[in-house]
Amino acid sequence: MSNLTLDDIREMDRDDPLAGFRGRFELPEDVIYLDGNSLGCLPKATPARLETVVREEWGRDLIRSWNTADWINAPRRVGAKIAKLIGASDDEVVAADSTSINVFKVLSACLQLNPERTILLSERGNFPTDVYMMQGLSVLSGGRIETRLVDGKDIIGALDATVAALLLTHVHYKTGRMRDMAGVTAAAHKKGIPVIWDLSHSAGALPVDLNSAKADFAVGCGYKYLNGGPGAPAFLFAAKRHHEAVFPALSGWLGHAAPFDFDDAYRPAPGIDRFQCGTPGILGMAALECGLDVMLDADMADLRAKSSALGDLFIALMAERCADFGFTLACPADPAERGSQVSFHHPDGYAIMQAIIARGVIGDFRAPDILRFGFAPLYNSHEDVWRAVHVLCDVMQSGEWRDDKYAQRAAVT
Ligand SMILES: *Cc1c(COP(=O)(O)O)cnc(C)c1O
Repeated sequence: MSNLTLDDIREMDRDDPLAGFRGRFELPEDVIYLDGNSLGCLPKATPARLETVVREEWGRDLIRSWNTADWINAPRRVGAKIAKLIGASDDEVVAADSTSINVFKVLSACLQLNPERTILLSERGNFPTDVYMMQGLSVLSGGRIETRLVDGKDIIGALDATVAALLLTHVHYKTGRMRDMAGVTAAAHKKGIPVIWDLSHSAGALPVDLNSAKADFAVGCGYKYLNGGPGAPAFLFAAKRHHEAVFPALSGWLGHAAPFDFDDAYRPAPGIDRFQCGTPGILGMAALECGLDVMLDADMADLRAKSSALGDLFIALMAERCADFGFTLACPADPAERGSQVSFHHPDGYAIMQAIIARGVIGDFRAPDILRFGFAPLYNSHEDVWRAVHVLCDVMQSGEWRDDKYAQRAAVT
């Protein structure tokens, strides 16, 4: 891969079967956006769709739109579109709430499947909200339920008959390391443990097949690779075999079998609908659906191939040009073990990231020392990678990252 020229890179972009998708997104001219794993960019179709939902469905048709515009079925309709991306059936996914809330729902569901078991298991360094939700459930249980965190490599050894649920992120948010979903799920099932997969860095980034892996539950974000917009609704998957066994802990009225009976007694809806809770945010649903409609036009195998190629290219160019500046790879070099991001350790990572953002190359920083670059194969090009590495090297060579202004931490990193 060494000694590539910009002409070689442009040829890769000409041969890219997904090249046509970039035109379906708003991307500022002066920005190289490698943070679609944190907030996906704006599909061109979204503003007009939101305008219609706001002015016509809300402004003109008012409350009638719950029926006439089918607002009431948006969580299921949007959920069914997500199902196609994650190897689930249409009636196993709802778009609802946030990922954090959905983690609570599925953890509490697992506790019901195994009422005598007391351990919620995850890995140290998992995305904090997943683990915090476990800790909240421990408190809610009066201490009967405990959270257990072990090193990622020790997960299989920690599976035993006390564990009520195993919760893992499929692609780790910092290291980009991808777990063997089918293998881990099978090992947990041998001990009677249901598995929850957090797909926040997988859905829309690479092929996922929950049902062939026999996954029990899954959750994930709508605003990352699915391009649903800031704070977009999240999603929840529950395998059909578990639906009727779960009495939702968040027993909101829209998960009731007949919400408009206004009954005093909660009766869970049949199937996946019981995992809904309260009134869905229709503006967010509409924006998320626009993101999904673009994504569903793409071939997942093309997506995965391009994402691997972009990551490989980034790593190779860094090794070739940026080897003297103290970066060490924080993600797997083998694309088969990596999600759609690359990350590097650097002791001055925060300031370096701020300096390249000031030059229009947007990635992000994750404490304590990780620079993270996400690849959204629908809108990132090989040339984006080339230019990003060029800017990073330039910022290191010139030392411009040492400017004091880049050391000041903002609220969001
Ligand atoms: C981004 C992310 C979340 C975010 O949860 P929210 O409730 O949307 O804030 C959760 N889990 C993982 C693994 C993430 O990467």
